[in-house]
Amino acid sequence: MARTRVLVCGAGGFIGGHLVGRLKREGFWVRGVDLKYPEFSSTEADEFVIGDLRDQKIAAEAVDGMQDVYQLAADMGGAGYIFTGEHDAVVMHNSATINLNVLEYGRQSGIARFFYSSSACIYPAHNQEDPGNPICSEESAYPAAPDSEYGWEKLFSERLYLAYMRNYGTRVRIARFHNIFGPQGTWDGGREKAPAAICRKVAQAPTGGSIEIWGDGTQTRSFLYIDECVEGLRRLMESDFPGPVNIGSEEMISIRGLAELVISISGKQLRIESIPGPLGVRGRNSDNRLIRSRLGWAPSGRLADGMKATYDWIRDQVLAAKPASASRRLDQQKPVGRTAAAIPHSSDD
Ligand code: NAD
Repeated sequence: MARTRVLVCGAGGFIGGHLVGRLKREGFWVRGVDLKYPEFSSTEADEFVIGDLRDQKIAAEAVDGMQDVYQLAADMGGAGYIFTGEHDAVVMHNSATINLNVLEYGRQSGIARFFYSSSACIYPAHNQEDPGNPICSEESAYPAAPDSEYGWEKLFSERLYLAYMRNYGTRVRIARFHNIFGPQGTWDGGREKAPAAICRKVAQAPTGGSIEIWGDGTQTRSFLYIDECVEGLRRLMESDFPGPVNIGSEEMISIRGLAELVISISGKQLRIESIPGPLGVRGRNSDNRLIRSRLGWAPSGRLADGMKATYDWIRDQVLAAKPASASRRLDQQKPVGRTAAAIPHSSDD
């Protein structure tokens, strides 16, 4: 029997790279497309297209001959990138253009199913002011009031996929990811998220020294280990439920608590110091009632286990003194074609 051919958009990124590996292990034929190759390992995809999905021609070529599409490409980063306001226009323009292109050309070429990666960032800021009791049930998304333009673009694109489902019968699956972390994720350069940033700071600090965290550390979040993210994603894709549905952990922790956890994993004696920085909402946690009821499954791994695997990987990167990872500014990139040589592998530019 012919193997199902699937496209992973954003296959050079953190979640996309892990997803490609998972799909290959499940027996799919996989085409990846991204502006860049994965940073920390070689791709497992059968075919990897270096290309810019803002370019209609690239999007049309990428979906050609595919049956399913996993759309994870987005202009994103940690709080230091998406919450400062400096990149709002670029973030919205780039990500919306990618979704418009992939969905329309995918529809025209007869794609059977689309997966779309939305985010917990779509939830209203006013429901996340109490760090002890954030509200993130799926229906609480409306009336909408995300705290970032990144979140507004995600909400727009969710609605775009749902509109294609209503008007064209396109089969879509939409997940709202909550802070995914793990090995092979960006760990420096300004786009890294809190778990990776804290692991790096702890790994770099001499014992007896200190690490800095943004804010007083009382803001809360939950963090989901990459393997469970990919598991939830695949279960959603194979289900008959379009979503949107949260894929996240319900194990909420303060940022100070996370720093203490990583310090204890490291075995070092370190002080924690607060410095000003972009914070985002006061509290956020996944609400897994819907995923449990619709998929009969929800993430259940322990944060400490995922953080240990992540700390060990980042400590090894720090020890190997890897050069700072590329914090590529997409607005500075020129559209590129299929030539791998057009994009430097992993450089600061
Ligand atoms: P990532 O930045 O590692 O991966 C995104 C990839 O998209 C990158 O490799 C990037 O080069 C690629 N890309 C960007 N613009 C492109 C373009 N014009 N053409 C082709 N490729 C392009 O991010 P990730 O953490 O792997 O996230 C994947 C998806 O999940 C994103 O849509 C993100 O918004 C969403 N998400 C992630 C998290 C998380 O915690 N990681 C949380 C919520 C939502």
